[in-house]
Amino acid sequence: MEATPNTEVFTPQELKNIRDQFPILNQSVNQCPLIYFDNAATTQKPQAVIERLIAFYQTDNANIHRSVHTLGQRSTDQYETARQTLSQFIGSQDDSQIIFTSGTTAAINFLARGFAEPKLTKGDQILTTALEHHSNLVPWQELCQRTGAHLVYLPLTENTMTVDFVLLNKMDTTNVKFIVIQHVSNVLGIEQPIKQLTDWAHQRKIAIIVDGAQAVPHLSINVEEMGVDAYCFSGHKLYGPTGIGVCYLKSEHHQSTQAVNFGGEMINQVNDFDSNYKNAPWKFEAGTPPIAEAIALAQAVTYLKAMGLHKVFHQEYVLSNRLYQGLKSIEGVQLYHPLYQSNFHGIISFNLDNIHPHDAATAYDYEGIALRAGHHCAQPLMRYLKVPATLRASLAFYNTVEEVDSMLEITRAVKEFFT
Ligand code: PLP
Repeated sequence: MEATPNTEVFTPQELKNIRDQFPILNQSVNQCPLIYFDNAATTQKPQAVIERLIAFYQTDNANIHRSVHTLGQRSTDQYETARQTLSQFIGSQDDSQIIFTSGTTAAINFLARGFAEPKLTKGDQILTTALEHHSNLVPWQELCQRTGAHLVYLPLTENTMTVDFVLLNKMDTTNVKFIVIQHVSNVLGIEQPIKQLTDWAHQRKIAIIVDGAQAVPHLSINVEEMGVDAYCFSGHKLYGPTGIGVCYLKSEHHQSTQAVNFGGEMINQVNDFDSNYKNAPWKFEAGTPPIAEAIALAQAVTYLKAMGLHKVFHQEYVLSNRLYQGLKSIEGVQLYHPLYQSNFHGIISFNLDNIHPHDAATAYDYEGIALRAGHHCAQPLMRYLKVPATLRASLAFYNTVEEVDSMLEITRAVKEFFT
């Protein structure tokens, strides 16, 4: 088959060059070459991001938006340019729609308190799914307890575990004010049909908030095309630093959204007994923000774009498919993906018969393989799957076919060891 931009993978030389940019990958763990398959928890950082952080602190570090001196100007410019880069990266047409937070969790908490709470009254409903990460569930549970609103779980189709529109269309939506939903599952890699759901929601005057933490590293995102009201993600899952995240909030909601943090930098005028605030995004970014982290996250995005996003995503697709098919062929491996799941977006959850996932993860670590074991901050989903925990392998574009094949070989050895 002729290679098209959508089916290209990295050549061995390209992959070697890429891996050279991630010095952490080049090490042994327990006398074995490290195989890092825990990318859904956090990704490794390319040298360009590490160097950007160092360069900022070595040459430009100053607080932003307050100093007229040269370093203050430089850091302010770089921070606001980072906002522009992130805005373009997710297809936002107005940079003021990009609010920097410390991560997805902080963004969702902000949206719950600032965007949703003022619009909710007793008896209102918030729709969500049983697949959510606790970060996109607990803030809404809390909000419901404070406001008297209720969480209602969306119906999912058995075969794909995506929103079931047949059942959805039969729901009484009179009291539904918000949908809060993940774009891609951190346990199963399943992608929800966000555009379709947004159209459905907006026809009913329902706002939609999307947790994009696991989507942004694996999909081209265009928030304006999807039409979502809010979209959140974390920098550290996108090859950027920890402590930085993005909350996209459509500009039409800026007026009706309340700040939840108050203090320096978000004000226009402070009187003795009251104050008035700047416009968005600054009114939502009180205090000194994660300046170096925002700038380094923009560097991560620039790095990814330079490689070609389609190639990055396709590489992950090829690797995860190989791992999935390989695991499927091993007797006693239980995979938790729905029947008609065709793309796992780099994430595969499984168990080995009669072996506790934590024991298995320890055995994999002994062979240098970093996997995650546990409930993955998704306890409702574990109940849905009727398991207490799973093993999770999550891949990135810097992983290799050889690593996938090693993991398959070690899976057979781990199974044998425990039987
Ligand atoms: N949502 C999803 C789907 C996630 O996978 C995660 C982290 O694993 C989060 C939210 C929370 O992200 P953070 O801990 O960076 O705030």
